Amino acid sequence: MNIIDIIKKKKDNKELSLEELDYAFNGYMKGIIPNYQMSSLLMAICINGMRDNEIFNLTDLFIKSGDTLDLSSIPGIKVDKHSTGGVGDKVTLVVGPIVASLDIPFAKMCGRGLGHTGGTIDKLESIPGFNVSLTEDEFIKEVKDINIAITSQTKDLTPMDKEIYALRDITGTAESIPLIASSVMSKKIASGADKILIDITLGSGALIKTIDDATSLKELMIKIGEKYNREVRCIITDMNAPLGKNIGNALEVVEAIDILNGKGTGYIVDVCKSIASELVSMGKNISNEGALELVEESINSGKAYNKFLELIKYQCGRIEDLSLSNKKIEVRSNKSGILKEINCYKIGLISKNVGAGRNTKDDKIDYGAGIVLEKKVGDSININDLLCTIYLGDNKDETTYSDILDAFIIN
Ligand code: URA
Repeated sequence: MNIIDIIKKKKDNKELSLEELDYAFNGYMKGIIPNYQMSSLLMAICINGMRDNEIFNLTDLFIKSGDTLDLSSIPGIKVDKHSTGGVGDKVTLVVGPIVASLDIPFAKMCGRGLGHTGGTIDKLESIPGFNVSLTEDEFIKEVKDINIAITSQTKDLTPMDKEIYALRDITGTAESIPLIASSVMSKKIASGADKILIDITLGSGALIKTIDDATSLKELMIKIGEKYNREVRCIITDMNAPLGKNIGNALEVVEAIDILNGKGTGYIVDVCKSIASELVSMGKNISNEGALELVEESINSGKAYNKFLELIKYQCGRIEDLSLSNKKIEVRSNKSGILKEINCYKIGLISKNVGAGRNTKDDKIDYGAGIVLEKKVGDSININDLLCTIYLGDNKDETTYSDILDAFIIN
């Protein structure tokens, strides 16, 4: 077999066999296929797409490249969720405790921030003492004890996806529907849950930009789930603006607590309730309407928030020590009109630059840093109105946020 023939075959929009995909992708993992040839193949896939069989085979190669987690010792239907990424997305911190408070095991492995988007593990680490590095045994025991555990990966799951994702990120090939489907589903299958909810984020701040793409991704992920005997449901949510008011790690924990206490506002509350209802519906085999009632009851009775506190305590976090940066900068409008757009990508990037994310792998995060949005899309704005408050990280100056007004499109 020859990698150049494989690249040309995909360039000519022909179907690659399992053997050819294996040769290319495992060859890349072994260092036999160099970055430039894999990049070329990924670009051909990005342009011409893949047939269903190719996508199933690639997903299987990703899964088999590493370990898989066996959750079968935990009684009940285990549910999991995944989002295709966004800014201000603290949904896991809200829906996990809701679902667990209704006696459904929620065993969740999460990642750190990538690019301009945040990661749940960084958010949880903003809680002093919180342990995000559970062993597999600790992870399973915690789910058995309190129905929920959230950790960074305990095992080497889907290392091939990790390598390919990093290459996609820097070769303009992240936005390929078959590659997103294989990447997301391989991780979810390897993580062991029985039923999976995928939040497909759609809009300028997301990887997926059109409803047609979101719909094909949804159909593909459901089909992949069927291959592995897992029920998969997808919801499509809007990511044209950041999700919720707060962006940045400790700030997002604060907003999650508000939502858990029934004090959240805006679209994010609907997203959290919809996702929690889908998970509860799958976990209890009941209708979405019945599930929504349980979700609302869990929030209103305080059960969801108590489960959140139980989770934090179990993993040694001290929520009372959560702190925000005390260097606050108010950003005010220099024009009047209607707020038409809050550029998600720009807000994500600035939040990262003021200290909430990393620019290099070794950067230290300032957990109390970030941005609080004081207005939402559609609001009418007067000159000098407060648009957002920046929580500036230590050793950060005005150069990290100097162009923030460009993120607010007012006319
Ligand atoms: N999230 C993932 O895990 N993989 C992708 O390819 C895109 C979003």
